Amino acid sequence: MSKGPQRVRGTQDIWGEQADRFGRVVEAFDKVRRLYGFQRIEMPVFEDTQVFARSIGETTDIVSKEMYTFPDRGGDSLTLRPEFTAGICRAYLSEGWQQLAPLKVATHGPVFRYERPQKGRFRQFHQLDAEIIGTDSPLADVELLAFADQLLEELGIAEGVTLQLNTLGDAETRDAWRTALVEHFEKHRGELSEDSLARLDKNPLRILDSKDPKDRPVADTAPAIDDFLTVEAADFFAKVTSGLDAAGVAWTRNARLVRGLDYYRHTAFEFVTDRLGAQGTVLAGGRYDGLIEALGGPHTPAVGWAAGIERLAMLIDSPKVERIYTALVPLGPAAEAKAVGLLAEMRGEGVSCDMAFRGNLKKRLAKASAAGARWVVLLGDDEIAAGEATIRDMETGAQSSAPLDFLAMELFERLAANDFMEGVITHVAEDGTRKVGLPPK
Ligand code: ATP
Ligand code: MG
Repeated sequence: MSKGPQRVRGTQDIWGEQADRFGRVVEAFDKVRRLYGFQRIEMPVFEDTQVFARSIGETTDIVSKEMYTFPDRGGDSLTLRPEFTAGICRAYLSEGWQQLAPLKVATHGPVFRYERPQKGRFRQFHQLDAEIIGTDSPLADVELLAFADQLLEELGIAEGVTLQLNTLGDAETRDAWRTALVEHFEKHRGELSEDSLARLDKNPLRILDSKDPKDRPVADTAPAIDDFLTVEAADFFAKVTSGLDAAGVAWTRNARLVRGLDYYRHTAFEFVTDRLGAQGTVLAGGRYDGLIEALGGPHTPAVGWAAGIERLAMLIDSPKVERIYTALVPLGPAAEAKAVGLLAEMRGEGVSCDMAFRGNLKKRLAKASAAGARWVVLLGDDEIAAGEATIRDMETGAQSSAPLDFLAMELFERLAANDFMEGVITHVAEDGTRKVGLPPK
């Protein structure tokens, strides 16, 4: 057999248990998003290259070497989004969202970075993203961090993940800190990696973020930001930390934490685990008061975070396998024809149902069982003629017959009675049958 075309390096075909995990992460995100009142948005997968180049910063790894940039057929330079924030800020300006400020939005989907693929690092990966745009209140930072914290709680992984928090101060703080950092790094030039030597001129803060073990000693002994914080910057940070304490969000200070993107001010944070080796950051973000200005808009304070869906998915317990609760097993041509109508009826009633229609009875039952069916409906031509079907409980082996006209209702009741109707509220009506919804007043 020919091998045929292969997946592109760094991309993933997500299926089976991995797809269930992925779905679980997105579901949890959507649930918590609603609790916090963040509106759902959907963003384009590509933007004008300038949207990213101007906001993320030309000297960052993302813009300098990780973007998928290409001319389209009309000759415009487009880039596949390497993250969500820049595109959302572009939309904030081009859609006139200023009127909605402060705006709380959330989205998720694929993002693209040309990186060396490894465990937890892909070229097309997926992010959850949450942003609050148009407020300089530290309470917005607290709200976003509480959202992130509750998401990890909802996913059952809060235990193994720590929130590392820092402030990058305001412009004045940053300039003073930067000067001190350059001085420190200049003194240790000889001990820095080649990449970091290049960063020294353009973006010295990024040396602190280096993953090269050669840089770590110099980076770890670099001056921390605290000595350079202005009164305003220190006050802002104090409001964030006291807000987190009030909200019950645990955090630890990491005075050398910086983010890989240029646009951050004040709050910067990462949720980190030691369970994923080198790819230990699962969620990261901060305040980016300068970004919208960099895109040509008015000064607009904002804060946000992004999380890697794949990394979260690797951390969670195996989710419940998706199963179908009932299956029709028709035997004979009349039964098969009838089954198509019954199947539609069941699904219309909200009963998850599939049909096993290949092979002999044994094969059909095996198929239904593999799909996880708890009840199998056996339909023979004789039964069809009598207007009945046999329901077999696959767990107990018990069999009973039910009139075809009431089959959907009968199965619905069994599902409801066994708590298999997730999210569906049912009640027992006066005639003893189970009905969807709350009982009438
Ligand atoms: P890293 O330090 O791991 O490269 P980053 O600082 O580049 O991460 P961000 O730009 O902050 O990451 O993106 C937010 C999150 O997206 C990260 O915390 C991580 O969970 C995830 N992420 C980033 N790059 C990748 C990738 N190539 N593959 C899978 N997930 C990724
Ligand atoms: Mg990166």
